[in-house]
Amino acid sequence: MRTPDILAKLGLTQVADGGTVSGVYAGRWIESPAGETITSLDPATGQVLGRVTMGGADDYEATVASAQEAFQRWRQLPAPKRGELVRLCGEALREHRDALGALVTLEMGKILPEGVGEVIEMIDIADFSVGLSRQLYGLSMHSERPGHRMYEQWHPLGVMGIISAFNFPVAVWSWNAFVAAVAGDTMIWKPSPVTPLCAVAVQNIVNPVMESEGFGGVFNLCVGDVDPVGETMIADRRLPLISATGSVRMGKRVGEVVGGRLGRSLLELGGNNALAIMDDANLELALRGVLFGAVGTAGQRCTSTRRVLLHESVADEFTERLTRAYGTIPIGNPMDGKTLCGPLASQAAVDGFLAAIETVKGQGGELLCGGGRATVPGGEGGFYVEPTLVRAPTDLPMMQEETFAPLLYLVTVSDIEEAIAVQNGVPQGLSSAVFTSNLQTAERFLSYAGSDCGIANVNIGTSGAEIGGAFGGEKDTGGGREAGSDSWKAYMRRQTCTINGTDELPLAQGISFG
Ligand code: NAD
Repeated sequence: MRTPDILAKLGLTQVADGGTVSGVYAGRWIESPAGETITSLDPATGQVLGRVTMGGADDYEATVASAQEAFQRWRQLPAPKRGELVRLCGEALREHRDALGALVTLEMGKILPEGVGEVIEMIDIADFSVGLSRQLYGLSMHSERPGHRMYEQWHPLGVMGIISAFNFPVAVWSWNAFVAAVAGDTMIWKPSPVTPLCAVAVQNIVNPVMESEGFGGVFNLCVGDVDPVGETMIADRRLPLISATGSVRMGKRVGEVVGGRLGRSLLELGGNNALAIMDDANLELALRGVLFGAVGTAGQRCTSTRRVLLHESVADEFTERLTRAYGTIPIGNPMDGKTLCGPLASQAAVDGFLAAIETVKGQGGELLCGGGRATVPGGEGGFYVEPTLVRAPTDLPMMQEETFAPLLYLVTVSDIEEAIAVQNGVPQGLSSAVFTSNLQTAERFLSYAGSDCGIANVNIGTSGAEIGGAFGGEKDTGGGREAGSDSWKAYMRRQTCTINGTDELPLAQGISFG
């Protein structure tokens, strides 16, 4: 598909013609928002992809008013009926799957199968949420008082805020939005200013469905910078829940401000994921796991593999095989079917990567391959870097940080105990993996004294989670859980109800009062 056709299919013809689109949807598109106009770039070429006008303070107020008004009606709709509307949104996404996937690739830079994969993830979570809409179960308990009944029920929270990162410009919204919608919440989305077109396109797909059913105000959008939109949102007491995905730095600020007003935050922050390869591992499997984990999305996944912990008996052989494989990775335009490694998202990301390499070398890391910009024919203005391998001592200071690029450290360890200690010895706690064919080693890794991450895999890489599980991590990763399992509970409030069916008024704990 050509770029103008992709944009036209997503209701962005104006952008294809060089025009500017509104980044504010408050139950309807606000024609001329008061914020600045931002330019979205194609990271593969550095060329302008389109322009979006951000929201100002008044536009943000309009989104709150829209979401509040819709909430009064939306929460009265039975949950399975809310699920039916989410099902229709999923159908609309199916119709736009390839176009939206292509836009993700154009604006964010991940390769096309990953761009389309992100939309498939949206469809999956829509399907999951439809089922969930009939399963928002509460427990019933036996009361200690005769003739009394006790149970819990779950109510919607209200208007929630979704703040998302550039690297999953559409899927993260849907993990939150569809689950929150069946829970009965309405919402305001502040996407990353790096990927505003994806956000506008998503609204163009789902909101005609919602409008036709009279619920245009459930999914609202306010593209905006940290100031005024982001900071206003996190301080806003009308938003009982803020779900924020992004860097640890951002999460600390959001946690502080939302906590300061005793609101709830759901934080999905940076990772620093390690993959251990033990002496009995299937090295071919491990090689494929490492390549996808470290090079996929050009190392720009929160779950990207950042550290490989090699048992000393396989370290030399694996390092040699991996270095050879790195030499053959096709770097190029992410729309090209042969490409496995596309560009980084921005020039700032390239600068950050190059600076990290210099620091790593200064700290004693040994550069095995890569380390510089990559040259791609036709992509002279693009933000390409070389997938990079560094042999590192266990205490290399830079290994404590998440460099959001295809930079992978190789560390030698002597046994599973040391692998677990190195794996856990960083501030973040998102994803982890071990490759082994020994059941005891696998169980050791998964035990209470094993990986301290929110995700722990055996014979699978660190990245590429399924929506059925609860997704998120511990420590500096923020502690939030999204998507499957019982993550829906974060979007609702629990109420415990006790009903007395007798003419007596016994007190709990047998207390006698007067
Ligand atoms: P970022 O922190 O720069 O920005 C994320 C979002 O937060 C953006 O929308 C930004 O505008 C907003 N923001 C920043 N400061 C804010 C403030 N004070 N108030 C309100 N909003 C604010 O992150 P990024 O560069 O877009 O994304 C990369 C990071 O996101 C990486 O660290 C990655 O690991 C992390 N990430 C985590 C997950 C996860 O599920 N754990 C998923 C994707 C990305």
